[in-house]
Amino acid sequence: MSSPSTHPTPVIEATDLGVTIGGQPILAGIDLTVAQGEVLALLGANGSGKSTLVRSLLGVIPMTTGAVRLFGAPLGPTAPWNRIGYVPQRLPAASGIPATALEVVTSGLLHGRMLRRPHGHRQRALDALADVGLADRVHQQVQEMSGGQQQRVLIARALVCRPDLLVLDEPTSGIDIPTQTTFVETISRLHEAGTTVVVILHELGPFAPLIDRAVVLRHGRVAHDGSPPHARDEHAGEWHDHTHAHSDPEEPPSPFTVEVLP
Ligand code: ADP
Ligand code: MG
Repeated sequence: MSSPSTHPTPVIEATDLGVTIGGQPILAGIDLTVAQGEVLALLGANGSGKSTLVRSLLGVIPMTTGAVRLFGAPLGPTAPWNRIGYVPQRLPAASGIPATALEVVTSGLLHGRMLRRPHGHRQRALDALADVGLADRVHQQVQEMSGGQQQRVLIARALVCRPDLLVLDEPTSGIDIPTQTTFVETISRLHEAGTTVVVILHELGPFAPLIDRAVVLRHGRVAHDGSPPHARDEHAGEWHDHTHAHSDPEEPPSPFTVEVLP
């Protein structure tokens, strides 16, 4: 390993991150560093705080304690938002605005004060739609699409700006397996080109070969940070649905034998 001074700036650096909503602590004491080029899976039972974590990391919701840096910059106007692509868990409810898939994806190329679309924008948007298997639907109205297709439009919108950091909240739920595989191939190409990926997953599924590291949340805290679970363990379902309290606090919250953070 190289000395710390030669380490590049982490893409995400969160220390003691806590989020309280309506007096309820949702996240507490989260320390998370994501290095450039990592593919990190964020796992945990429903309600464990995964979506809240990525939303607070990206400044979508305020944190109550702690600090977050993105590419070395504190959250705020100086953070390099144009280097970040984010796909939320579902299309926001107010999606009644008529727009075609191509228009939604092209809008991903407009950010901040850059009011002009970059050169080749149309081809880039078409390529991004092809990457998510929607090449034949570029002119379809998004609100007429199924939930899974809308999700794929949002993924294409995040891909089109060729982000250095891609954050995906359950990108493959409601998407059929062949499309998931195409999408994972796209993510794999981005990863090879150096993109850092943080992906919330319900199960690793076709993502498994890509995942370097898994962070498992449990009741708003990090319960595991290290190797991803094996497919066999995942199939048992225990690592993500095993929510009851253990009698022995030293016992890992999952069947895979890994080091568990205190
Ligand atoms: P996950 O993505 O792991 O399923 P979430 O981050 O969505 O979990 O939610 C974690 C917990 O925080 C849940 O108990 C959820 O009900 C609560 N929560 C999330 N957002 C809000 C909110 N805006 N208001 C109240 N409670 C919330
Ligand atoms: Mg969620």
